[in-house]
Amino acid sequence: MSTTGGCHCGAIRYEADGGPLNHALCHCTDCRRHAGAPMVGWTMYKAHTVKITKGTPKLYRSSEHGRRQFCGDCGTGLFYENAVMLPGIIDIQSGTYDDPGAVPAQAHIQTAERIAWMDRAHELPVFDRYPPHG
Ligand SMILES: [Zn+2]
Ligand SMILES: [Zn+2]
Repeated sequence: MSTTGGCHCGAIRYEADGGPLNHALCHCTDCRRHAGAPMVGWTMYKAHTVKITKGTPKLYRSSEHGRRQFCGDCGTGLFYENAVMLPGIIDIQSGTYDDPGAVPAQAHIQTAERIAWMDRAHELPVFDRYPPHG
């Protein structure tokens, strides 16, 4: 199995060989701030199985050892590495897969930093598109 994906504008493309080691939805503050989203889906790979096939992402030092790569043109967050905590590992933001449904998420992590209302997000009303105007 090989997984392909990239950023919104197409400047950065990647390919990963084999399936991910895991897929987690991260609720930490660093992910939230960097993505501008309540949580971020991450799939974990051995670094040598992932290659960037197009473009060069920008690198952002989000913590002492945390390194986030994103598209400098459109801003899409793509990769996370931490050589101290996770040597030899690269995480890919699963929302950037060409087929984001291919690998189901398996866990919520870092929920100690989760936004309180996310607790009950699954109970919210659901609309195929938008709620009716009223
Ligand atoms: Zn881009
Ligand atoms: Zn996180």
